[in-house]
Amino acid sequence: MSLTDLTATALLAKLASGDVTSAAITEAFLRRIELHDGQVGAFLRVDRESALAQAEAIDRKRRGGDPVGRLGGLPVAVKDVLCTRGEPTTCASRMLESFRPPYDATVISRLKAADAVLVGKTNMDEFAMGGSTENSAFRPTRNPWDLTRIPGGSSGGAAACVAASMSPLSVGSDTGGSIREPAALCGITGLKPTYGRVSRYGLVAFASSLDQIGPLAWTAEDAALLLEVLAGYDPADSTSVNLPVPRYTETLGQPLENLRIGLVREHFDQGLDGEVEAAVREAIRVFESLGAAVRWISLPHSKYAVATYYIIAPCEASSNLARYDGVHFGYRTDQRAMVAELEAQRKCLEQAGDEAGLDALDNALVRLYRKTRSEGFGPEVKRRIMLGTYALSAGYYDAYYLKALKVRRLVRDDFDRAFGEVDLIAGPVTPTPAFPLGAKIDDPLAMYLFDLYTVSTNLAGIAGISVPCGFSRGGLPIGLHLQSPPFEEERLLRAAHRFQQATDWHRRRPRLAADVA
Ligand code: GLN
Repeated sequence: MSLTDLTATALLAKLASGDVTSAAITEAFLRRIELHDGQVGAFLRVDRESALAQAEAIDRKRRGGDPVGRLGGLPVAVKDVLCTRGEPTTCASRMLESFRPPYDATVISRLKAADAVLVGKTNMDEFAMGGSTENSAFRPTRNPWDLTRIPGGSSGGAAACVAASMSPLSVGSDTGGSIREPAALCGITGLKPTYGRVSRYGLVAFASSLDQIGPLAWTAEDAALLLEVLAGYDPADSTSVNLPVPRYTETLGQPLENLRIGLVREHFDQGLDGEVEAAVREAIRVFESLGAAVRWISLPHSKYAVATYYIIAPCEASSNLARYDGVHFGYRTDQRAMVAELEAQRKCLEQAGDEAGLDALDNALVRLYRKTRSEGFGPEVKRRIMLGTYALSAGYYDAYYLKALKVRRLVRDDFDRAFGEVDLIAGPVTPTPAFPLGAKIDDPLAMYLFDLYTVSTNLAGIAGISVPCGFSRGGLPIGLHLQSPPFEEERLLRAAHRFQQATDWHRRRPRLAADVA
């Protein structure tokens, strides 16, 4: 077995015993990237030199007998939505193509302090808006299990790079499913922590009441390891919660006695693909055979979750993205050309004596904003800004935004009630396995409906994990969704780990063309 086939936990054991160096591991993953990323497109940038230098520095520390951090020289890839000091942080948008943040996100500082080796930044839907990674302004990412299909999104690069064994661990963000969906479609494990569990300082904001950062990895054990490093209170993010972070890796093996699992009646309804349903039901039987009690529950407002999410998320996005004005930072339209065009128009109107036209002419600043934003943002981002601006505008605010906030409360109440009866809620992550690239790109509504099972987790602020639970006949991975009450990531990880001890879906690896050759 080559190094790149091993889990993070297995690699860490080899590092600790001196079997292998971080430089050797890093080199092995970098070679995989060189070999496969041309096809997969998981990375927007690979930091070969700096990764090897970090690995060597950690090896030196270890050789010298100095204490080594929790991730002790393991490569980690990071979604390009997280600020890395002095390094490009693009959010897969033209708007931020040349942006180099002057500071590190808190999770980046934590990764560095834990001696992770940062190998590069991964592709995503522009500003994390999307579910297929086709909305990247730079290139789509392809699913390592079938290169004609999407990897899911918006953390598609982060999921695909783990699935293609180009990094053992990655960090993504999840506003409505963006960690869990690509994890499911790429056959790996991905966890969205509770709102407040992980600091978002330095995460480029999409919808601030929904965004969370979390780990992607092959196994629950590896996700537990990475979450231990990412999680925790941060005075720089007032929404992070000051609660102790459990040692997830240590409690992982504890038994889950009398586990009660709820199946959401409304999620096993129309729209759910037969093969996905069969795999999920089989996974539930595995839990039953391990002693869990399974019962049907109802989340009566879940049918409104997609509509509610697609009001609230765009409203927040329209406000968050107002900062990209071409003045403060990021892309700016060619100002000279713009002023020349403005003057030419003015002259024309003056010659024609068109007073009304002259009055309607933008001033230079408004024109700068308009041109910058229309050139810098892609079509999906513009759609969200327009939707959000509309839903927040006078006369519509009550009917849309305020109504959505009320429904959000009802969605949360449904979960509170359900968690009075059960410990975990299980179901599918996505309605179907990965679809072909381009299949939904002209149909935003179909794309939005793909988020049917994941958005309520974010609306309610609770935690959720996607665990590999089977494959379609065509060889595409299927994910099992487990949700827990707030701050019960430990329970999620233990259940996922128990499941992975009883199954081997998480051990399957895709065969990429260059492997076969
Ligand atoms: N697919 C959802 C959207 O497009 C979720 C995205 C996310 O979680 N960042 O908004």
